[in-house]
Amino acid sequence: MGTEDKDRDLSLIVDTQKDSGSKGQRPDGGPEAGAIRRRERTAVGEEDRRQREERLRSQRQQRSKRRRRQVLFARLAVGTLALFVGAAAVALGWGLMELFGPKETDGEPAAVMQQETAAAAVDNRAQKPQIQEDFLTPNPYSRPGEPLTEVTELFVHYTANAGTSAAQNRHYFENLGTTGETSASAHFIIGYEGEIIQCLPLNEIGYAVKQHNYNSISIECCYLEKDGRFTDATYESLIALLAWLMKEYDLDTSALLRHYDCGGKLCPLYYVEHEDAWEKLKKDVADYIAASSSL
Ligand SMILES: [Zn+2]
Repeated sequence: MGTEDKDRDLSLIVDTQKDSGSKGQRPDGGPEAGAIRRRERTAVGEEDRRQREERLRSQRQQRSKRRRRQVLFARLAVGTLALFVGAAAVALGWGLMELFGPKETDGEPAAVMQQETAAAAVDNRAQKPQIQEDFLTPNPYSRPGEPLTEVTELFVHYTANAGTSAAQNRHYFENLGTTGETSASAHFIIGYEGEIIQCLPLNEIGYAVKQHNYNSISIECCYLEKDGRFTDATYESLIALLAWLMKEYDLDTSALLRHYDCGGKLCPLYYVEHEDAWEKLKKDVADYIAASSSL
């Protein structure tokens, strides 16, 4: 059994060679067994190759897996970075808009303030009648230039000279500075056509009502009728002027006085002789104020 021995030896060798391989039983002896052994050897070689390939493949797979993971991480990183950059850009843009952009939050109150100012201006226009400023030349008899620091009373007068105009009465006051005939003046003169002339600034006293010149404003009214009743035009201007002054100095109708109420002089005549007309006048002023306030 020399061949067999060889074979055995071979088989031993094979056995040793493929020691790490299949440890199972092998068929013994015969040409068939040789063929099987050859096939086995071949199989062993293929097995090795397969294992190597398998290892290589697995290594390749791992490498490619690793590469894919790296690519994924890289993409994630780039994506996250892009997000941060985008967010930062948006934040920066927003910040810049806040700093240098149009001030929306400031704009609205400004607009509201403008509207309020406009409303106040309209209100004032509605309240303040048209007045011609034609101040007297400073002089000791009609424009002494002494300060009027408070206004608590508004006096109504009549000119005691029927048919004379506001301009004529202003001229009379102006002329007192030259003639020195007497001391007399008023802040306003309302003509029988309703025109209003202002003879004195409101921060200066006039000579109109003894003992009250330093806390009052006086209004002279022109008239046409002998009884001293004011024309409708004069009356309307007087109501508007009194209403405006009451608002300016925060006064109520108790501040409305006739010259007569301080000193007993029959001025303004018609409204001294007709108490009801005077009461109506005060009510008309109050109504005028109420109506203009609700505008
Ligand atoms: Zn008077």
